[in-house]
Amino acid sequence: MSDPTRVLAVLGRGVVPADTPFVRGDDLGIVRGDGIFEVMHVRAGRPWLLEEHLNRLAGSAARMELAVPPRAALVELVDQAVTAWPAHVEGALRLVCTRGPEAGGDPTVYATVFAIAPESIRARRDGLHVLTATLGLPARLRPDTPWLLGGAKTLSYATNMASLRWAKASGADDVLWVSSDGYALEGPISSLVWRQGSTLYTVPAKQTGILAGTTAAYLLAHAGEIGLAADEALVTPAELQSADGAWLTSSVRGPAPIRTLDGTPLPYDPDVTARIRTLLGFPLPPEPAATS
Ligand code: PLP
Repeated sequence: MSDPTRVLAVLGRGVVPADTPFVRGDDLGIVRGDGIFEVMHVRAGRPWLLEEHLNRLAGSAARMELAVPPRAALVELVDQAVTAWPAHVEGALRLVCTRGPEAGGDPTVYATVFAIAPESIRARRDGLHVLTATLGLPARLRPDTPWLLGGAKTLSYATNMASLRWAKASGADDVLWVSSDGYALEGPISSLVWRQGSTLYTVPAKQTGILAGTTAAYLLAHAGEIGLAADEALVTPAELQSADGAWLTSSVRGPAPIRTLDGTPLPYDPDVTARIRTLLGFPLPPEPAATS
């Protein structure tokens, strides 16, 4: 393999050199962002929460009216990809299904495994400075507007990435999207979780059309193991200021505490953050070397 830090497995071909060109120029995934994907954490050589990701992919495919290969073929593809990845290295697996060539034909389906950006791993320890940004839609609009593809993880992530670039250009790390009627929704690549007393909350996906985060769902389903209850609610950024802590959670970065929201420090509880991180099984970066 030409690049040991990146793996590429293509449906029907298996693992090929990671720099193999194989997607056609007229692939609808490229020319229209017409496709879906999942990203999962690879730990000890296995994809974490594979079933949950494949379930969400199936939901995205149904909303997109996109024919994806049978689940067994996707599982085999993921297996091929993670088997070629060094098991002792934490990684990320991206599984992509596009609608295929514009002239018709099979969907394009492949998986890549790649190393996690050090910045993402550091955010688990150091947290995030987050800016709110409007998404321009009322919180409860998307369940009744299926063409907006609420809840689907589509390849059309240009707005998501533009949001992150805007945050970075503004001196922050990440964004919390807010509805036009003032409710916090999600980040461009993460879910919002907050603690109020002994309960962990997240935003209801069905009511709002946000992406149902697999990490937040796992955390809330297992909250009892760290002595917390779990619930869903709509929350405003102002209400988050008086919560007992808030995190942006996602499959690869894991749980990252929100340290400031629009420049105002949010309550930060290192103990609860550590318990959440351990429950979710994400390692921390090595401590910076002491300087004398
Ligand atoms: N919301 C959006 C828009 C996302 O892109 C992501 C992850 O990429 C999430 C939420 C978090 O989902 P998960 O925990 O399944 O990674």
